[in-house]
Amino acid sequence: MGKTIAEKILGEHAGCEVRPGQIHIVTVDVALVQDGTGPLAVRQLQSLGLEKAAHPERTVLFLDHAAPSPRKELSNDHVTLRKFAAKTGAVLSEVGDGVCHQVINESYVNPGDVLIGADSHTCTGGALCAFSTGMGSTDVAIGIALGKTWMLIPPTIRVEVTGDLTPGVYSKDIILHLIGTIGADGATYKALEFGGPTVDGMEQSERFTLSNMAVEAGAKTGLIASDDVTREYLDSRGRAANFREIGPDPDAEYERVVDIDASTLAPTVSFPHTVDNTRTIDEAKGVKIDQVVIGTCTNGRLHDLMVAASILRGKHRHPGTRLIVIPASREVYLEAIRAGYIETFVEAGGLIVNPGCGPCVGVHEGVLADGEKCLSTQNRNFHGRMGNPKGEIYLGSPATAAATAIKGELADPREFLS
Ligand code: SF4
Repeated sequence: MGKTIAEKILGEHAGCEVRPGQIHIVTVDVALVQDGTGPLAVRQLQSLGLEKAAHPERTVLFLDHAAPSPRKELSNDHVTLRKFAAKTGAVLSEVGDGVCHQVINESYVNPGDVLIGADSHTCTGGALCAFSTGMGSTDVAIGIALGKTWMLIPPTIRVEVTGDLTPGVYSKDIILHLIGTIGADGATYKALEFGGPTVDGMEQSERFTLSNMAVEAGAKTGLIASDDVTREYLDSRGRAANFREIGPDPDAEYERVVDIDASTLAPTVSFPHTVDNTRTIDEAKGVKIDQVVIGTCTNGRLHDLMVAASILRGKHRHPGTRLIVIPASREVYLEAIRAGYIETFVEAGGLIVNPGCGPCVGVHEGVLADGEKCLSTQNRNFHGRMGNPKGEIYLGSPATAAATAIKGELADPREFLS
């Protein structure tokens, strides 16, 4: 019987054939925690007398969610992770290095890996054909210490994308459309497997956006077969030797196949307060927006900044709309400076925040006031997500965000294409 990508990778790591519904112990290649979840993981290991890392060189502790720290309690949490790194040899990704899901894929994740992370958007690594999934702090702590974890083998939903995206429409619009179609619980505890000619032709940056939001449909991971695009990305990161071609068998068994014709899609926006509350931009236009955020682990890569800068170049944000831009990593920040994108954002009236999560998780750097509306390129718009339950969050692509910053209301980026 043919296998899906998830079954192939998890079978390799379990050392046996696996089928959906079974529970197996699998080896762990890469593990991450961040400054919100990591201190609990460390305290659990201390209480168990297990303060160690099985693979310290591929165990990464990120200071990204509240970085630099806005409060003394969070500063103390940072110290906890710094001390754990010093004691175990685990890698510390310091304040300003970037968002965990960007940096882990830039530097550590390879096709065929199992990556576990104490953060739900760990699924981003599926775009490199790694079985990447978020788990609770305690599970990740054990995975760090022992180099293995338990896994309920998920059934797979195949998302087959055909047709060319039209100008002004991006992978963010595909994933918002998918979640709007199957619902926020449409793939709960299943693997999503993205494929088809549109995904095959997509550059790596756009693929990360698809996989990043798999969990917003409830999925454990969002896998994409590794191919020449993956190989080129790894080559550009100095990891060409780690490339492996992995894809589903032709007779793989899927729980369901969802077909999307990308040529029919329009820029799409999620309305408050659930990601599956989607509307096309024609249905969304005109809502006044107080703050626009371009960045995060969903859309803070160089390609995203390039798209936004191409719309904002020579223009200015609306006087009633703040514009916050956050490069996803130090490397993206440097490349954006060299490419002139940062200058474009500053000239357009934008504010540049250091690489990290920025206001996405609601602790600092852009908390909304009561009744304010924000359009963000992030992945979640739940009540209170940006620090104020009385704020409203809309989700869209970097292009939609740039157009919205200029007009001061939800706007169609296709009006700004040159
Ligand atoms: Fe989570 Fe937002 Fe940070 Fe991504 S950018 S890891 S979604 S807080």
